[in-house]
Amino acid sequence: MRDRRQGPEQAVDREVRLVRFLYCDTDGITRGKAAGTAHFAERLEGGIGLTVAMQAFTMLDHLAPVPGMGPVGEIRLVADPTTFVVAPYAAHTAVVLVDMMTTTGEPYDADGRHFLRRVVERAAAHDLAVVAAFEPEWSLARWDEGHLVPFDRSLCFDSRGMDAAAEVIDEVIGALEAQGMAVEQYYPELGHGQQELSIRHAPALQTADQHVLYRETVRAVAHRHGLHATLAPKPWPDQPGNGCHLHLSALDVDGDRQRFHDPAAADGLSETGRRFAAGVLDHLPALVALTCASVNSYRRLVPQSWASAYRVWGHDNREAALRVVSPYWGREAATVNLELKPSDASANPYLSLGAVIAAGLDGVERGLELPDPVEVDPATLEASPERLPTSLGDALDRLERDPVLLDALGHRLAGCYLAVKRHDIEAFAVEDSEFEFRQHRLRH
Ligand code: GLU
Ligand code: MG
Repeated sequence: MRDRRQGPEQAVDREVRLVRFLYCDTDGITRGKAAGTAHFAERLEGGIGLTVAMQAFTMLDHLAPVPGMGPVGEIRLVADPTTFVVAPYAAHTAVVLVDMMTTTGEPYDADGRHFLRRVVERAAAHDLAVVAAFEPEWSLARWDEGHLVPFDRSLCFDSRGMDAAAEVIDEVIGALEAQGMAVEQYYPELGHGQQELSIRHAPALQTADQHVLYRETVRAVAHRHGLHATLAPKPWPDQPGNGCHLHLSALDVDGDRQRFHDPAAADGLSETGRRFAAGVLDHLPALVALTCASVNSYRRLVPQSWASAYRVWGHDNREAALRVVSPYWGREAATVNLELKPSDASANPYLSLGAVIAAGLDGVERGLELPDPVEVDPATLEASPERLPTSLGDALDRLERDPVLLDALGHRLAGCYLAVKRHDIEAFAVEDSEFEFRQHRLRH
C-alpha cells in the first residue's frame, strides 16, 4: 500500500500527461475536465472554468430548469491537492478531486463537497469527528447482443463466484491500494454477478472522496476487462438490489475517545450515539431523498429484501433501516457503529453523508430519544411499522417539508437538488421501465 497523498509535484516524475479534475454532480454522476501538465501550476492556482449549468444537469444530460444555472455564468473547479492520486487504471493519468468556487474565489453554494465540510465543522462544535464507511455492492455485467447481463450465476458468498471474478477483483484491489484505500472484506453477494468489496472507514470528508475514487476504479477496471460494473440500486428486475450501506461512528475531535461507545450500555452504544441515531431515524423519510437518490433506488427498498423498507431500528437486524452493529470482542470501543441500510451508490456521497450527519446532529442537539428497537423482521409484525417512502417523488415531498435538512443544505443546493431530481422523475415517467433499468445500469 502506498500513501494516497502522493502530491501533484510527482505528476511529472510519473509521466502523467493529464490530470482529471473530478467532482460528483447533483445527480450523483462523476464528471470533470482534465488538465495537461505543461502549465499545470496555473491550473492548480486558478482552477478550471466550468459553466454554472453543470450543477443543474441530470443523469440523462438534460438541463433542469434552475434559476441562475443556464448558459450565462462560470465557476471554477479548484483542485484539493491532498486528494491527488495517480490513476492506476488509465495510462499517464492522475486524478484530483475539486472544490467548486465562484470566479471571485468564494465557495460555490451549490457544491456538495463544501456542504459536507460545513456539516463536519458543525459536528466538531459538538466535539464529534464523524468516521464513516460506505459498503458498496455492485454487479459485474457482460455485454450480450447489446444488453448488459450478469457476468455469472454464482451463489451468495460462493467460492466459485470468487474464482469467476478473481482477476477483476485482484486488479480492483491493486488499484484501490495504490490509491491508499485499504480493503476490508470481499465476497460475491446474493445476486448473479453481484460483488461486495468494502474499504476501511475514514473521517467523513475522506470517506466521501474515497467513495468517488472507488466508483471510478471499479468501473474502469471492469471496462479494461471488457466488462461493465454497475452500482445501480436495482440493475435488473429479477435480481437483488445493490446497497451501499453507510456505517457511522464518531471520535472526539482530538481522536482519543470513541463518542458512540459506552462500556456500561448493554449494546455498547453511548447516549450520544443513541441521540445521533434518533436524529437519523427522525429525519429518515426526508433523508432517503438524498441517500436513495434515484428513481431506480425505490425498486430496491422493498420488504424482505434485506435492503430495509421500514422506519425502524434494531440490533443486528438486517431488515431495519438503522442497525446497531454488534461490536467485535476485544475491540468493542472501536467497532460499535450504526449502519444505515437505505443508502445506495446512486447518491452523491457528499450530499448523502452530509445530510445523514446533519440529521444525527439534530438528534444530539435536541436530545432525542430512540423509540423501542424492532428485533424481528418488521414485515412480519401484526401492526405494520411506518414504510419508508416508496418513490423518489414521495421522498422529495418529505424533504421539502423538512426544514432542518433544507437549512443544512442551504437554499441554493436544496433548490437545484429538488429541481434535478424532479426533472429525472418526469423524464423517466414518459419512458418504459426497461429504459429506467438500462439508464441506471449504464450511468450508476
Ligand atoms: N443487497 C442488499 C441491499 O440491497 C443487502 C444484502 C446484505 O448485505 O445484507 O441492501
Ligand atoms: Mg451486502
